Amino acid sequence: MKTNNVNFDDLTFTFTETRSMYVAKCKLGQDWNTGELVPYGNISISPASTVLNYGQGLFEGMKAYKTDDERILLFRPEMNAERAAKGCLRLSMPEISKTIFMEAIQKVVNDNSDYIPPTEKGALYIRPIIFGSAEGLGVAPSTEYTFIVYCSPVGPYFKGGLSPIKLIVSTNYHRAPLKGTGGVKAIGNYVPGMLPSGNAKREGFAEIIYLDAAEEQYVEEVGAANFFAIKEGKIITPELTGSILPGITRDSIIHIAQEKLGMAVEERRISIDEVMTADEVFCAGTAAIISPIGSIKYKNKEHLFSKGNVGEITRELYDILTGIQFGTDNDPFNWILEL
Ligand SMILES: *Cc1c(COP(=O)(O)O)cnc(C)c1O
Repeated sequence: MKTNNVNFDDLTFTFTETRSMYVAKCKLGQDWNTGELVPYGNISISPASTVLNYGQGLFEGMKAYKTDDERILLFRPEMNAERAAKGCLRLSMPEISKTIFMEAIQKVVNDNSDYIPPTEKGALYIRPIIFGSAEGLGVAPSTEYTFIVYCSPVGPYFKGGLSPIKLIVSTNYHRAPLKGTGGVKAIGNYVPGMLPSGNAKREGFAEIIYLDAAEEQYVEEVGAANFFAIKEGKIITPELTGSILPGITRDSIIHIAQEKLGMAVEERRISIDEVMTADEVFCAGTAAIISPIGSIKYKNKEHLFSKGNVGEITRELYDILTGIQFGTDNDPFNWILEL
């Protein structure tokens, strides 16, 4: 058995291999078989597989935290199971069963629990993937599917606390059209973003903001995170029209804002011009949780938010959400699954 010699002090958001992973298979027209834990390692796959040739695959992302008293916490994992199942249908793959998804997550986390850093040093990032693993020359669904869950310890996104990021609006590239696959974590959605995002990073920006593909006016997402603006005590976030990924962090922030802070939440289109008049802006997703946005550059103009500081409401939302996720506060919404 492999022993854990990971230094938790040096963790960043990069891959570190762990002891084991979970693998299950499904033949087209049959049910998913119950999978098993196997040592983490390379897999063998046909060069003619549909995932390699046509991108038939999706992924999920979630985190497990370890509290000071060694409890292991998952945040709303059933939501990931449901989103993965819906994504399977869109990508012509057999729906992953909730039972197998949940069993896989729990087995992988339990077997690799010594790889979970203490909360102040990071989390165990869990990565489920589902893909067409049989060969198929024509553009058609695979006859066999593979579900794998692997994990990696990761560091906190912001070492030394929340700090505002600089963004630039992408005027040359879109992320996803209406009626496309932007609303599911299809593997093919992510590579196209690496070019514009890489260009922005070379210019000193943390990420790009995508506008809608039809009118090029309305904010969609920030890289692979959902977007929020706060104006006059109201929260505005782009409505889920199909091109935007329905984030679990996004949904949680909406509930916290409405039910814990008593704020009005508007899910609607928000133009980039309106964004520039907001009091606070931030983006949200599992990896960074909540990232305050300090400035946005759009067509040669750079606009500063909250004087470049972390906005008050942004911080309040972050504190409430992480209090629940890290297990330091109570869990009024029943979101935590303790292993
Ligand atoms: C995963 C993802 C998000 C965030 O979703 P969470 O469930 O909050 O992690 C947002 N946008 C895109 C494009 C994503 O892939």
